[in-house]
Amino acid sequence: MNKHVRLLRAIAFAAEKHKDQRRKDVKASPYINHLIAVATVLAEEGKVTDEELLLAAILHDAVEDTETSFAEIEEHFGKTVAGIVREVTDDKTLKSEVRKRLQVEHAPHASSRAKQLKIADKICNVRDIIHNPPSGWSLERKQEYLLWTRRVVAGCRGVNELLDKAFDETIDAAPKQLGVTI
Ligand code: NDP
Ligand code: ZN
Repeated sequence: MNKHVRLLRAIAFAAEKHKDQRRKDVKASPYINHLIAVATVLAEEGKVTDEELLLAAILHDAVEDTETSFAEIEEHFGKTVAGIVREVTDDKTLKSEVRKRLQVEHAPHASSRAKQLKIADKICNVRDIIHNPPSGWSLERKQEYLLWTRRVVAGCRGVNELLDKAFDETIDAAPKQLGVTI
């Protein structure tokens, strides 16, 4: 199977799995838009050509947010892709505060691929906080979220300079766009 077919199959798989899920913005955007955005940041801004990483980007929230299992991802897309997705999947049985703390603690020990995926995910979420924020979030909550992403990304730096820079530009522009200081 050629790499384009694998990528297209991953997009179709994710679109089906996330079909009933929406983002938290006012317009309740289709969830698949976020997955495509994360893979696009890796490919376009990070110049990533690593197929397994791009597939993992498309699939990165499938286990965390839908009924999908790691075994299913491995069956369709292989061990490597399933392994990357496992690295970026939070344990949803833990409380949100604990999950957030663990992301900061685990980031420096993640693989190079998982680190890049985590940065791309945070770039997209920070851009969403600026342009399509979750409905009902106060400025203070947005500010806290931005500070937290900076702590996670601090542990992911040094693998892909282009992504590090893209994150910095995104987060540095945020305070002015939101009218806050961070
Ligand atoms: P999160 O803070 O985890 O929500 C952000 C996550 O939602 C993102 O990481 C992203 O994850 C996803 N997401 C979906 N849509 C959007 C969007 N439009 N923009 C940005 N991100 C989006 O939410 P929780 O509801 O789990 O909040 C829990 C945390 O927030 C706790 O730590 C709690 O203490 C704190 N909290 C703070 C409040 C405050 O006012 N300061 C009030 C209430 C809670 P992904 O890419 O994985 O989908
Ligand atoms: Zn995500």
